[in-house]
Amino acid sequence: MKAVLDHVGIAVKDLPAALAFYRDALGLEIEAPEEVESERVRAHFVPVGESKLELLEATAPESPIAKYVGKRGPGLHHITLRVEDIHAALSQLKARGARLIDDQPRPGAEDALVAFVHPASAHGVLVELKQSGLVVRQAHHERGHAPTLTRSTRPPPSPARSAHDERDQAPPLTLSPSKGERVDRVQRFALGDMELISLCDGFFGLDGGTMFGVVPKAMWSRHAPADEHNRITLALRPLIVRGARTMIIDAGLGDKESGKFHQRYAVDRTRNLDHTLAEAGLSPEDIDIVLASHLHLGHAGGFTVRDAGGRVRPRFPRARYVVRRGEWVDATHPHERNRASYLADNYLPLAEAGVLQLVDDDQTIMPGVKVRRTGGHTMHHQMALIESGGKTAAFVADLMPTTAHAPDQWIMGYDLYPMDTLGAKQRFATEAVAKNVLVFFAHDPAVAAGYIRESDGKRSVVPAIG
Ligand SMILES: [Zn+2]
Ligand SMILES: [Zn+2]
Repeated sequence: MKAVLDHVGIAVKDLPAALAFYRDALGLEIEAPEEVESERVRAHFVPVGESKLELLEATAPESPIAKYVGKRGPGLHHITLRVEDIHAALSQLKARGARLIDDQPRPGAEDALVAFVHPASAHGVLVELKQSGLVVRQAHHERGHAPTLTRSTRPPPSPARSAHDERDQAPPLTLSPSKGERVDRVQRFALGDMELISLCDGFFGLDGGTMFGVVPKAMWSRHAPADEHNRITLALRPLIVRGARTMIIDAGLGDKESGKFHQRYAVDRTRNLDHTLAEAGLSPEDIDIVLASHLHLGHAGGFTVRDAGGRVRPRFPRARYVVRRGEWVDATHPHERNRASYLADNYLPLAEAGVLQLVDDDQTIMPGVKVRRTGGHTMHHQMALIESGGKTAAFVADLMPTTAHAPDQWIMGYDLYPMDTLGAKQRFATEAVAKNVLVFFAHDPAVAAGYIRESDGKRSVVPAIG
């Protein structure tokens, strides 16, 4: 393949000092900086002949560039090679066993397509491939819907030190995770005196069109690639809250379903809640409270297990299970529109075992954890707000199932009351931005948690790395 050096990205710690060198001492011209608000980065391009230098400056401590500089100091961050056919370049690399961060090219700056190659395959250098001038420009109002800003100057992953380095296995520090990326590791977050642990019960697939409602495929497929059955990959991410008690919020899909069900929903639970719970140092006996956002099968499936005798019983033997009364009533009286999502074995055995606790209103479930009804997805769908040490986190369940659902219009076709989803989402997003809420995404395949940002009328998510 023919490749031309497009630019060299340099992570900068002290911009005035960098300008004193590149501009004043070397006498180079610096272009006006490009602010990438959602990514907390300012990019200063420095034309040098056919190529450019790109000085990358963090504008906030959570910027990946700040983390990169903190870990490794300022210096060479990535190089960008321009190729004529990025698809051909990627398949050539794939055929030779190169490790790619982006399996498929995605839209970058200046209407280009870009894809990153992992430093493990590029001898320690993060390599960005770029093909210019291919992406059809979206109309401005459509652009406003884009859930995350992807451009070639996004701060890419931290180069791993070696193939055996633990961090090598960690997901790249991308702000716009690459398409099709799956992250299933246990992620821990401190929140005041509490610890929040994001678990994974594996992945499944749902129809992409239904997942994004009125958003056209031409737009959503840029963020979630569809398989041959038009399904997109979704994760199942229960959340552990450790404080005065140990709580689990939702419990994934569970393992009571048939092979046919697994086929229909492309279920992949090779790594599931049993594994990730154990990795978090917990056993089912450690759970005091199970909190349900709602009783759909991707959330309540793991509430129960079938024992050797074929009897279905509560999975967490010591726990009380907290469910909103309206949701319980709806789940036990399904209708044609929601019947496929409610499987009685997931929740009726809780009532039979006497471990069910129904709550009627928004209230505190354990110290620091409150529920709030959102409605929308189901009439009584609720989210959990977690507060400690002046900080707030939220488990929003199907109010915003993935990071792509952050913008207003990206609402699931599954939702029974989409206008209620819209209202609840707008209210929550305003609060999340103002209070810098750490938001947990129950179904995002790559991002367990992040911070919602709004700029120029666009809403996006900055992933938090646990
Ligand atoms: Zn649901
Ligand atoms: Zn769901």
